[in-house]
Amino acid sequence: MVDAQKYIQADPTVRAVAEQKETVWINPDYLPFAVTDGLCQLVVADADIADAEARLARFAPFIQRCFPETEETQGLIESPLADIPQMQKALEETYGCAIPGRLMLKMDSHLAIAGSVKARGGIYEVLKHAEELAMAAGKLSVEDNYAKLADEDMKRFFSQYTVQVGSTGNLGMSIGIMSAALGFCVKVHMSADAKQWKKDLLRSKGVEVIEYADDYSKAVEEGRKRSDADPMSYFVDDEKSVDLFLGYAVAAKRLKHQLDELGITVDEEHPLIVYIPTGVGGAPGGVSYGLKRLFKDAVHCFLVEPTLCPSVLLGMATKEYEKANVHDFGISGITEADGLACASPSSFVTRILGNLLSGDFTVKDGKLYDYLRLLDRSEHKRIEPSSCAAFAGPCGLLELEGSKDYCARHGLTQEKLANSVQIAWATGGRLVPAEIWDQYLSTHMD
Ligand SMILES: *Cc1c(COP(=O)(O)O)cnc(C)c1O
Repeated sequence: MVDAQKYIQADPTVRAVAEQKETVWINPDYLPFAVTDGLCQLVVADADIADAEARLARFAPFIQRCFPETEETQGLIESPLADIPQMQKALEETYGCAIPGRLMLKMDSHLAIAGSVKARGGIYEVLKHAEELAMAAGKLSVEDNYAKLADEDMKRFFSQYTVQVGSTGNLGMSIGIMSAALGFCVKVHMSADAKQWKKDLLRSKGVEVIEYADDYSKAVEEGRKRSDADPMSYFVDDEKSVDLFLGYAVAAKRLKHQLDELGITVDEEHPLIVYIPTGVGGAPGGVSYGLKRLFKDAVHCFLVEPTLCPSVLLGMATKEYEKANVHDFGISGITEADGLACASPSSFVTRILGNLLSGDFTVKDGKLYDYLRLLDRSEHKRIEPSSCAAFAGPCGLLELEGSKDYCARHGLTQEKLANSVQIAWATGGRLVPAEIWDQYLSTHMD
């Protein structure tokens, strides 16, 4: 257990976080990209990300064959990048804030197969594992058309193996759906926060869902223990996995392609500012890392977490990393943002982002539903409450002292901000059932 009081007394931002106020933590260790480059390449190199991208391309024929919804993109799992000018105006009017530049929504909320950002990392890790098993057994080579992995004999082969994962919901869905499609036995260990409809959907796909009355860390711990005891079982470890991270990092090149197609330049004069909702840190960490590698100092990556579960913020601000736990700071960790309910952060991500992350905003649960309604009304787009956390970024950037000061220190002048693109990264929503949308749209709270 970390000495929370020590940090609360020493750091006014940590104090505000412990008091569950909406705030922003600005990373005091943020460094120019060139300084961080060498060390970062040693941990996760550009070649590793390119390798992940190539693997996803190899699997595209298999994905297209199993999931007809990916027909249009030829088996590539990618999401739209949309302008949301009406939402930009609605946010400015509702909250009396100024949002300069062009506000866009990266709609990972609508990714094929898993309906969340987990379709990037989660699915990637399962595919990589399947490839390794099949290659080791002499049943697959890189030259093959991977569509053959959907054949019955391959499914029989994979059915000897088990894949397990601990999840608050969406990771379980991505791992569960893809593992089941390959033929693996799948066990998803779910925390108490997980929504019933996610459990029901998984069970309908033949996935074994094991429920825990405890929080996410406990579900992971139990899942890991059970998997380790079974030599035929593989555990997807959200708190540590580099493969998950690589799958997320591929998003950056795909985004660059979309920006290029829209004729949008990103450079020092035209900055890119990105806000990503964060749970354990894996998805936003991988995406941010990929973005930094591509856009370097021209991109500013911010995370957003619920005031009720700011675990990555606390792990990074205290440099206690995975040892930081929101409970030690008197915070419940229980939030409506089920996708973000991780009481302790990823050891890997909190470290690798140490010099790359710009900052981390916190947002109250009630705002998530307000944003959800505002987006539905202004743009006729629906994203789940966890996803909506992203909007606290553009609303807070010039309102909160910390981020205002960050802009001043990093040459984000009014003029440059007017040329900027700000992206709210929507992380989930497509699979939410109709009756749950009704519930979400009518939820009002502080
Ligand atoms: C998982 C998830 C996140 C955050 O990802 P982490 O890897 O847990 O940080 C954000 N939003 C949604 C909807 C998610 O499912």
